Amino acid sequence: MDVGNDVKKLKVGDRVVVSSIIGCGQCAHCSRQQWSLCDNSNPNGGLQEPIFGFGTAGIFGYSHLFGGYAGAQAEYVRIPFADYGAIKVPQEITDAQALPISDAFPTGYMGADLCNIQRGDTVAVWGCGPVGQFTIRSAYLLGAERVIAIDRFPERLQMAKEQSGAEIINYEEVDAGEALTEMTGGRGPDSCVDAVA
Ligand SMILES: [Zn+2]
Repeated sequence: MDVGNDVKKLKVGDRVVVSSIIGCGQCAHCSRQQWSLCDNSNPNGGLQEPIFGFGTAGIFGYSHLFGGYAGAQAEYVRIPFADYGAIKVPQEITDAQALPISDAFPTGYMGADLCNIQRGDTVAVWGCGPVGQFTIRSAYLLGAERVIAIDRFPERLQMAKEQSGAEIINYEEVDAGEALTEMTGGRGPDSCVDAVA
C-alpha cells in the first residue's frame, strides 16, 4: 500500500472502505451528497452525454464510459480523491462486516428504501444473489412484515429463508405471479424489487 502526496488523512496500514462510485468531494453535486453525478471523477463524461443526456461520476470497473477505472475486486487498486472516498473502518468493525459496505449492501438497502415500506407491508424481491440477500434483510429492517424471495437456485432461496426468515418461491417450480397472488390473499405484494444482475 502507498499513500499519494496529496493524501493527508490516511497513512499506510489504515483499514478503509472505498465506495464503488468515485466522488471528488468538492463539486456542486458532491456537496449535495449526489456523488453519482460528480463533475470531476469521470474524464469521459462528455462521451456519455449523447447516450444519457449528461455525464455521471466515475465508477470502478465500469467501462471507459464511466472513467476507465480498473475494477476494485483486485489485490491493489488506485483510489482517486482518497482523502474523501476512502473511509476509515472503526476498530470494532471486522473485515467481514466492512466488506459489503462499499457496494452490495448499500445497493440492496437502496432497493428496499425506494419501496417506502410501511409497517406490515409485504415486499417481493426478485433475485437472491448478494444484493438480493441484502435487499431482503433491509426490507425487514425498514418494517416489512413479510418478504417473499424469488429465485431459481435452491441454495440461494435456502439462504434467504434461513438467514433472513423470507418466504420463498422457486420460479422454475411454480408460476411466480400466481404464487404471489395466492400467498397474499389475492392482493399481491405492496412492493416489488428487481435485484437481478
Ligand atoms: Zn464531485
